[in-house]
Amino acid sequence: MSLINVSRVYGKKEACLDKLEKMRWPDGKIGCIYCGVYEDNGKPTVTKFTTKPTVRKKTGEVIPPHRLYQCKNKECGKQFSVTEGTVFHRSHISLEKWFIAVALILEAKKGISSLQVGRHLGVKENNTKSTWYLCHRIREAAIEAGFEFLTGVVEADETYLTPRKPRKGNPRVKNHKEMVVLGVRQRGGDLRLIPVKDAKMSTLEPELVKHISPDATLQTDKALVYDIIGQRRFVNHRMIDHIRTYVEGENHTNTVENAFSLLKRGVYGTFHKVSIKHLGRYCNEFSYRFNRRGIQERMFDETLKRLVNGKPLPFKTLTASGESADPSDPSGQTF
Ligand SMILES: [Zn+2]
Repeated sequence: MSLINVSRVYGKKEACLDKLEKMRWPDGKIGCIYCGVYEDNGKPTVTKFTTKPTVRKKTGEVIPPHRLYQCKNKECGKQFSVTEGTVFHRSHISLEKWFIAVALILEAKKGISSLQVGRHLGVKENNTKSTWYLCHRIREAAIEAGFEFLTGVVEADETYLTPRKPRKGNPRVKNHKEMVVLGVRQRGGDLRLIPVKDAKMSTLEPELVKHISPDATLQTDKALVYDIIGQRRFVNHRMIDHIRTYVEGENHTNTVENAFSLLKRGVYGTFHKVSIKHLGRYCNEFSYRFNRRGIQERMFDETLKRLVNGKPLPFKTLTASGESADPSDPSGQTF
């Protein structure tokens, strides 16, 4: 779904709530999020109502109307909102902005930094942390779930990302090494980008076996590692000799290389810095988008659905797992 459509269709809170309701209860049967009951003798047990706007006496603060659900199951009787138990609950950022952020991230072919998302949303400069957190949760939802084998003709190749040279005397200079990303792409199908520690056979072989069906036609260049892996693991293996030529009819690795060149433009160009520890997530987000190009609307819905149905990701958990809360992420090596 394009950005302009998202802002037109979901510009009001009500529209966002309607959408989330549909995502959460696609068959229209609203179930209580506490007891799970949705009907009694064929009659719905959850009713919907909207609170009246109220004014807090002490502060004069106006509390806007709120859409709530009431469970009528006698043993439960609880109230809840559509966002309860989801990442949207009690967020400082409004639902309309969440929706725009999802569209921004999905639309950015080469990626978008959380600082940039914040600027688009009009989030204050001193509140970059909440935008960073928001983007992180959207990225977390935009992760390929399935690991089905790629079949048919599958191209495989690796590419190298060179980190920026650290300044002289920088203690991080020791870590200055190229990163390898293995790409596998089914022709006319999905792409997968896998950051790996090196391009040795012991590293590449298990990854290729994990992603590619043994009866697929493996398509690679003539590098020795692929030659050996092909002989050992795949019935059909086609190799293009890059010293002589790049294309011989069907014999080429161009489609995976096209994906690499887009990835590189993203890593080097769009992000202020992509740290090595985030490279995996970036590769994942990139292939998620790549594999859904041309079906924007479905991608938007799919991502929202994952956000609604996924578990909330507490800020503490996110930062405790070694992630930095700083959007420019000064720790670690960057590209
Ligand atoms: Zn209930």
